[in-house]
Amino acid sequence: MMINCRQATELMSKSDEKNLSVGEKFKLYIHLTFCRICKLFSRQNKLLIQKYKGLKPANESVSADFKKKVIERLNDKEEL
Ligand SMILES: [Zn+2]
Repeated sequence: MMINCRQATELMSKSDEKNLSVGEKFKLYIHLTFCRICKLFSRQNKLLIQKYKGLKPANESVSADFKKKVIERLNDKEEL
């Protein structure tokens, strides 16, 4: 039932590509209720998804390099 930080991060990054199952969402939710670090990461990850959803066609997969550039840009312009 409990997942560790690495698994939580994996679920979060999986959630930008496809929808998580109910079970996965639940495990992630439980983890985020007690883990501040992952909660912070999740917030940043959501902001990132919102940003690049507007920049790319929905069916195109985003390269790790592009993602990194977006993160850098977010960090430049916004205080997270
Ligand atoms: Zn965690």
